[in-house]
Amino acid sequence: MCLICDRIELIRRGKNPYFVRELETGYVVIGDHQHFRGYTLFLYKHHGRATELFHLDPRERARFLEEMTVVAEAVSRAFGAEKMNCELLGMGDAHLHWHLFPRVSGDIGSCGNNGKGPVWWYPPEKMYSDGNRPAPHELEAMERQLAEELDWLIPA
Ligand SMILES: [Zn+2]
Repeated sequence: MCLICDRIELIRRGKNPYFVRELETGYVVIGDHQHFRGYTLFLYKHHGRATELFHLDPRERARFLEEMTVVAEAVSRAFGAEKMNCELLGMGDAHLHWHLFPRVSGDIGSCGNNGKGPVWWYPPEKMYSDGNRPAPHELEAMERQLAEELDWLIPA
């Protein structure tokens, strides 16, 4: 069973509270944990044999990358990033999905190289603590902020 497919199924049934927007190649969702405020994911629509960008046909890949780039810009604008970190990993779930982290100075405390480095250098037990789960009203506000930026960047 794939966690991302499960989340997409909830979106299709209208029951995923983290869902923000459907684009041509994927779904925009707010991350479950918000130590990095504004952390957003862009989930590829299909779970197939494509587990790498280089498995996608060039047109689909270009579209997926373009849409991810626009989502990253919207996240940056909505949540005031100094720098966006965009990562396609997949050792947990091989289903193609982007982690989009808006970064600001000091967000990993004194971890890493004197507070500098990737999000993954912040202790996972802190990053994924229940205290970092947004309350329903916070989640709604974040979704509204992000949707406004997406509307601005992708006019209907
Ligand atoms: Zn999947």
